[in-house]
Amino acid sequence: MNRIDADLLHALGELDEALAVLDGDFLVALNAPMQALVPGDTGGLAADWAAPLHGLASALEAPLGARTRCGVSGEYTAQRVALDARHVLLRLTDERARLHHLQRQLDDREGLLFTSRSLTVSEMGSVLAHELNQPIGATANLLRGLKLRLARKHPDSTDELAALDKAVQQVTYASQIIGRVREYTQSRQPNTELLDLVALVHESLALLDWDLQREAVQLTLRLPAQPVPVQGDAVMLQQVLINLLRNALDALRLDRPGEPLIDIELQLDGGRAELRVADNGPGITPQTEARLFLPFSSTKPNGMGLGLSICRSLIEMHQGRLWFSRRDAGGCCFHFALPIAVAATQPTLEKTA
Ligand code: ADP
Repeated sequence: MNRIDADLLHALGELDEALAVLDGDFLVALNAPMQALVPGDTGGLAADWAAPLHGLASALEAPLGARTRCGVSGEYTAQRVALDARHVLLRLTDERARLHHLQRQLDDREGLLFTSRSLTVSEMGSVLAHELNQPIGATANLLRGLKLRLARKHPDSTDELAALDKAVQQVTYASQIIGRVREYTQSRQPNTELLDLVALVHESLALLDWDLQREAVQLTLRLPAQPVPVQGDAVMLQQVLINLLRNALDALRLDRPGEPLIDIELQLDGGRAELRVADNGPGITPQTEARLFLPFSSTKPNGMGLGLSICRSLIEMHQGRLWFSRRDAGGCCFHFALPIAVAATQPTLEKTA
């Protein structure tokens, strides 16, 4: 029997997936996860070894590369690939574990999207209330002034004066509604806990892994090796990160550079942690820059223009700061800085350009 490389056998032993090596009709090696699923001795006929697992023996007959369901309820997928001219690697995937993992990812995503939607509604309420308060207050003052002047100049215009009274009443009512929305949204305080900013970056990226892959974005991560503790609301901070990353992805998709890249860097500077999200997209014009953090200013066909203003207020709720700079080699860079929760134990990292 042709010997297979000892390093390869060692590597199989290190892997968590259930793997076996076949030489023609014979089983020559199997690692511990495979042994747990399909026990047996090497050196014998592969078909004999496979017989106890329903459908595995016929899966061994399937063409190379094909995925074949086996197990009583089809809970495993078997796939074989050629290792060399003689040897074939067999992989068994436990579909239940894979589906369970997938379901958890979908649940996490759904959970974040749900919270992020309800946060956005609340933030939007707050922004709308803030924006509408001013013109409604001004309208009420104008109407009151007009009524006073009319009453002075034409005291007998009773119909007009009554209509102005009604208009003032309506505007006052609108302003009371806005007052209530503001009260409600301002009472929403962050649900703070001790968080690791490094883990938060990884979790946010995991939620966007599909989008990053689809856009074939090259991701550069420069994160401290140790946790970076901050006091904060995990959902709110994750919402900020996801918003910045989504904006970068949008920019890279709308005006795609040759090699789209996103660069994430977390630096510790004194008592603050500064996170930067940079991209090599088209960047922004000075006009867009001037309105970047104003609500309802967007250059996207379906953009609401609320993301950055909401992100800034979320970071400010955490005693932090969010700002923009131009990336040296072209593109945008968004920064936010937050106070580090246990500053004394954190070494300061070197700054990189
Ligand atoms: P929206 O995404 O709905 O437009 P935002 O407030 O998140 O709202 O963004 C406002 C505008 O800022 C965007 O429409 C876009 O013009 C600009 N912008 C934000 N991030 C980037 C980026 N990474 N690259 C280029 N432009 C950006």
